[in-house]
Amino acid sequence: MGSYYYPYAAHRIFDQYDIEVVPLRYEESFFCGRCGRMASSKTCPHPAAGRSDTSQTRIRKALAECGEIPPELVGPEVAKMLRQPDVILTD
Ligand SMILES: [Zn+2]
Repeated sequence: MGSYYYPYAAHRIFDQYDIEVVPLRYEESFFCGRCGRMASSKTCPHPAAGRSDTSQTRIRKALAECGEIPPELVGPEVAKMLRQPDVILTD
């Protein structure tokens, strides 16, 4: 949805209701080159400059432009499946 919704709108909606369920709220994850793995702002102390966006939008763009997905986005097995001609990625 691009920037139509506030990034954590799905978290905030639970503040409006008392449903006797404690939601687990996770912040956006990213690949940190210095950590060498997926991380979030809670687990990674490094500056944002070394972080890679791992959004589905980036995966779709990489597939459309060159057919290759950077290894920090998905593992090789998943990348191979996504390159199959009958796989359709939707928003
Ligand atoms: Zn890090």
